[in-house]
Amino acid sequence: MDSPVAVATPQFTGARRRLVEELRLKGIADASVLKAFELTARHAFVPSGVRHRAYEDAALLIGSGQTISQPFVHARSLELLKLTGAERVLEIGTGSGYQTVLLSHLVQRVYSVERIAALHERAAEAVKAAGASNVDLTCSDGTAGWPEHAPYDAILVSAGAPEIPQPLLDQLSEGGRLITPVGDREMQRLVLVTRHGARFDRQTFDPVRFVPLVGEHGWDA
Ligand code: SAH
Repeated sequence: MDSPVAVATPQFTGARRRLVEELRLKGIADASVLKAFELTARHAFVPSGVRHRAYEDAALLIGSGQTISQPFVHARSLELLKLTGAERVLEIGTGSGYQTVLLSHLVQRVYSVERIAALHERAAEAVKAAGASNVDLTCSDGTAGWPEHAPYDAILVSAGAPEIPQPLLDQLSEGGRLITPVGDREMQRLVLVTRHGARFDRQTFDPVRFVPLVGEHGWDA
């Protein structure tokens, strides 16, 4: 992949507005989520070979066998978290760093974990180029969470697991919300968990297709 591009490339402004409109038509109603999409240059997070497709509502390959998710799936997950702007959020699966930057517009602080070093390094450059200053990134197995900064008001998992890793539930604050794909390696459903003391309420939403969450409390590599 080549180096990150300048974020404010005017040629993509129209395409980005059209993507925001498409998300709205598909049912995304949260104005702050839509605003985050308007502010974030997705073309700066994808390989140059697919940059012309950056504002399609589609998942794209980002290298190391991984994908940047479909914008609608990011939007849906972010909307379900009902963020207020005050949260400290943990993201598992930094990938391209695109959703990390979407989150940076929506919360107080973002902590994001990626297990593949090449993607972590690439995302660190792209996040910096985007000017996001409320983001901390690390390269490790995110199925163990990031205990040093716990608890988190929200946790967003960007890869699918057969069950929700216990360390992530443990790192959720009182009233905190976690969204994650749960299912088999091919298909999952978005599951939203809300913590009430020792109780974890679960709601199940849309069918989705994410790459596997690989690690101690996820799938084997
Ligand atoms: N939100 C990202 C999605 C990337 S795909 C984006 O839009 O770009 C999911 C990512 O999760 C991949 O980069 C994959 O390497 C990573 N991943 C899988 N298992 C992981 C784990 N145990 N810890 C941290 N990251 C993991």
